[in-house]
Amino acid sequence: MLTGKTAIVTGGTRGIGFAIVRTYLENGANVAIAGSRQETVEKAVAQLPEYRDRVMGIWPDLCDPEAVAAAFASVKERFGSLDILANNAGISSRTSLYDYTLEEFNKIMSLNVTAVFVCSQAAARIMKDQGGGVIISTSSMVGEYGQPSGCGYPTSKFAVNGLTKSLARELAKDHIRVNAVAPGVTKTDMVAALPQELVDRISAGIPMGRVGEPVDIANAYLFLASDLSSYVTGVTLRVDGAAMT
Ligand code: NAD
Repeated sequence: MLTGKTAIVTGGTRGIGFAIVRTYLENGANVAIAGSRQETVEKAVAQLPEYRDRVMGIWPDLCDPEAVAAAFASVKERFGSLDILANNAGISSRTSLYDYTLEEFNKIMSLNVTAVFVCSQAAARIMKDQGGGVIISTSSMVGEYGQPSGCGYPTSKFAVNGLTKSLARELAKDHIRVNAVAPGVTKTDMVAALPQELVDRISAGIPMGRVGEPVDIANAYLFLASDLSSYVTGVTLRVDGAAMT
């Protein structure tokens, strides 16, 4: 579904991001894994030996426009185009408002919002020149419902949804589609480390009776990156087993 296309996946070294990387590779794309450290990026690339010719790693500071522009240019130089940006890197915390420091709030907003803006701008500049592209960002179920602690995280995901809608409207004329995927609880390392009893309790509260697998999210990312979603833009697609409805 993505043969001949090139994608950059931020936070692609593990969890949901790594599932997106694998799904895009399986569907024929060239993929650049963007992570925070050279070591973890190279480790992720090394886990994909069968795709050696179609995968590379980059590790710019995602909030530094010059570093991001240079890294994205290196991807275009290696593979010839940049067609898909997956803004997936994100961090969360559950600190109570009473204990929340400004430093923690700014840290979450930097990666979850500022980096999405910086990376989307760098990618859009390339995509506009080449005639179009697709930008997809990882939001969250809590970007619709909020959550009763760690207020910076849901705030950042509401912002991702707003940026998605606004950029969709602004960039449509340049043939760039902009969408988001909002996962529910998904079985990444963090969830896998929880006691089974707690996972069972969480699952019981989800109408589909289970938490999401990273590949459930990656499949939504595949749909939104492919031509199957050619008339879909400005949407935040919930992938959460109908949780919270
Ligand atoms: P994870 O912690 O397993 O992976 C996060 C990724 O982001 C890693 O690849 C990490 O290297 C990268 N990252 C962290 N800090 C970075 C930085 N400063 N610069 C570049 N990359 C950085 O998390 P995950 O669960 O796979 O989360 C991926 C996305 O999904 C996040 O945006 C998260 O908010 C969202 N999400 C996750 C869940 C869930 O239940 N797992 C639910 C809703 C939304």
